[in-house]
Amino acid sequence: MFSEKMLALGKESSVIREIFEYGRKRKAEIGADRVFDFSLGNPSIPAPPSVEREIRRLLDDRGPVALHGYTSAAGADEARETVARAYSAASGQEVPASLVYMTCGAAAALTAVLHALICPGDEVILLSPYFPEYKVFAEKAGAKVVTVPTAAGTFLPDPAAIRRALTPRTKALILNSPNNPTGVIYPEAVLCELAALLREKERENGRPIFLVADEPYRKLAYGKPVPFPTRLYHDTVVCSSFSKSLSLPGERIGYVIVSPEAARCRDLFAAVCGAGRALGYVCAPSLMQYVIAACADESADLAVYAENRRILTDGLSRIGYSFAPPDGAFYLFLKAPDGDAAAFCERARARELLLVPGGSFGSPDYARLSYCVKKETILGALPAFEALFSEYETEKNHD
Ligand code: PLP
Repeated sequence: MFSEKMLALGKESSVIREIFEYGRKRKAEIGADRVFDFSLGNPSIPAPPSVEREIRRLLDDRGPVALHGYTSAAGADEARETVARAYSAASGQEVPASLVYMTCGAAAALTAVLHALICPGDEVILLSPYFPEYKVFAEKAGAKVVTVPTAAGTFLPDPAAIRRALTPRTKALILNSPNNPTGVIYPEAVLCELAALLREKERENGRPIFLVADEPYRKLAYGKPVPFPTRLYHDTVVCSSFSKSLSLPGERIGYVIVSPEAARCRDLFAAVCGAGRALGYVCAPSLMQYVIAACADESADLAVYAENRRILTDGLSRIGYSFAPPDGAFYLFLKAPDGDAAAFCERARARELLLVPGGSFGSPDYARLSYCVKKETILGALPAFEALFSEYETEKNHD
């Protein structure tokens, strides 16, 4: 009667959401300050004041009809031009506004791009651990998903493992740096090696392999450089959003940039527009597109996350935990003391620490912490982390 696939997706709500809902219930029971909820990547800081000022100005100056009407399907000219200008200035690579497609967040950017790229029989490579929605999006677009583990401990792409996974049917590889869930930023040397490998395989296969660079965390890098994949590899499509950098996740505003160096870039762009049409996106939210036209260069006060990161990493390493280098985004990927993150997260929950087990990201020995929380949450949680670690140490010593 219904699509079995969609029914299953709707019923099996994501693990992250389930923990978040548990947290809400628990906070109501025992008080918000006694629950240490590190589950969801929902920004904890407000959008910069310029965003609110711009919304008010637009409401006053434009009039509701112009403001709330549909824009062109690919987006309002001023939004596309601003995104192209900002990206060109940051990357040093000229990108025309005509290859920018405004979307309802990075999620819609990814679904439109994947639907544009995938033909029957195509494969999409995901580097694990990966953002769980990639699998949902790629499979919905009709791709066969192939997961390739990143290098143990560093979580960097492993070119030898990727080489083994590439086939003549590989259409795309999704790259996410700064990474969710690990927080790792991929250095230029690693990306160059990956680019060389993809070029070699493109030549061998006689057809393009696209790098889909999912970059909603680009600005959350705490001083570390985040190389631009479009500069390193021609067949690149960028998917991004203002959800995290401007703290606007609920406003659903993002974009696709097709690299001007990509194979048949104009046709690919048209296919992205076609996919957006087929998926019923119509256009990205108009008010937010106009806001972006004025505020794309701004950021929320990301120093708050830098401070959280410092307190959390200092505290956890002092206790004795190991974790992936948390270069960017606002996630920390923590190794379960005995390698069983599902059990570790259960035991953490008993101490009111809400963490996401890494199984749904493809790494069952790690747990993800989102540190986009109040500083007090981290300070309050550290004694519970310490007690939990001691519990494991005691058990180890008794074995
Ligand atoms: N990609 C990654 C890696 C994410 O973590 C998220 C959201 O958390 C998204 C894409 C979707 O972002 P948006 O809210 O802009 O759709």
